[in-house]
Amino acid sequence: MSGSALFEEAHERAVALDAVSPLAHTRARFDLPEDVVYLVGNSLGALPVGVPARTAEVVARQWGHGLVGSWNDAGWMDLPTRVGSRIAPFVGAGTGDLLVGDSTTVCLFRALVSAARLRPGRRRLVIEPSTFPTDLYIAQGVAEVLDLEVVWCDPADPVASVDDDTAVVCLTHVDFRTGATYDLAAVTTGVHAAGAVVVWDLSHSTGAVPVDLTGADADLAVGCTYKYLSGGPGAPAFTWVAPRHQPHLRQPLPGWMGHVRPFAMEREHDAAPGIAAMASGTPPVLALSALDAALDAFDGVTPEDLRVVSLSLSDLFLDLVAEHLPGRVEPVTPREHARRGSQVSLRHEHAYGLVRALAVRGVQGDFRDPDLARFGLAPLYVRHVDVVTAVREMVAVLDAEEHLDPAYAVRNAVT
Ligand SMILES: *Cc1c(COP(=O)(O)O)cnc(C)c1O
Repeated sequence: MSGSALFEEAHERAVALDAVSPLAHTRARFDLPEDVVYLVGNSLGALPVGVPARTAEVVARQWGHGLVGSWNDAGWMDLPTRVGSRIAPFVGAGTGDLLVGDSTTVCLFRALVSAARLRPGRRRLVIEPSTFPTDLYIAQGVAEVLDLEVVWCDPADPVASVDDDTAVVCLTHVDFRTGATYDLAAVTTGVHAAGAVVVWDLSHSTGAVPVDLTGADADLAVGCTYKYLSGGPGAPAFTWVAPRHQPHLRQPLPGWMGHVRPFAMEREHDAAPGIAAMASGTPPVLALSALDAALDAFDGVTPEDLRVVSLSLSDLFLDLVAEHLPGRVEPVTPREHARRGSQVSLRHEHAYGLVRALAVRGVQGDFRDPDLARFGLAPLYVRHVDVVTAVREMVAVLDAEEHLDPAYAVRNAVT
């Protein structure tokens, strides 16, 4: 990596910020390569140190030696709610109201159908057109199954599209492209005023941007665990249902694991009480165990710690971009703290080449079509000095026009 006198002062400032960070100690909880600045924790969180030993133990001892008895002896059946209770504080959920299992995609389908059924007779499903694609497709699939009309709202004002024929609103708290965030409490209140319910997707929030589902009087939520929660590739997602809705819920995938007596093998589905009714099939024990071990990285970390460090990192990132790259890249992530998630997205005509050239210099970000370079700021392991390195190397790439290398004209399958 190239040094630059221009960044010496910034580096010193960053070292001082890292020294007083309330999360200075948590980076050691991750197994990160020394020579990489990893700013893709919003896509695949880094590996927490305890995960390899835990997964090896679950495979060799619980599965290998305990065999089928481990369903009882190793507490496998409790994993979906036990792991959920460890995530709960970061989303303002009550212990026991969060269930982990299945992909975000499947959890969202289940949540949206369940939510729409809370408002029978209403025929509209409102969703933002700029949300994550799987959310778009699932919303349209749900509308087809329930014969609802999809209403595309203005992402800047979703509540304006909610009327007395709206059953459910589907919103992603932090936009995956721009990093802009909704005021979850205010939007929830607005949706409720029209008598509708809202399903929040917290995939780009959980583990970096705390929310208070209980305080906001929210309805249902889902979220990804392989991003800021570092649960590992394809880790199972979570579902939360407000306690007041739980007794009235009718979910569309009522499998045997959501039955109050799964081993009674009865003909009719008798839903388990509480959030357990949202289960469908057998819990993914290996993945849940990896996620459980990953959550050790959050031990003693408060939601406030995450937010303070995340904003400090993105403040520094945006300041350095304004100072060193004026007019050369366009920040699309909001400046206001209240509207900012935990990433910095920069618009550039050759954003893909920029991201690839940065990776060659040891700075990993990612690219989102058509022209955004994204830099995720996972507060548990990204340091202020990493942010300085990232911007310093970005200046070097652009100065040397490395982003224009013809090799970057062809994109990888995963960008
Ligand atoms: C990451 C993400 C998903 C992921 O869904 P999978 O089912 O795990 O592929 C869904 N929605 C949003 C908003 C996301 O950010």
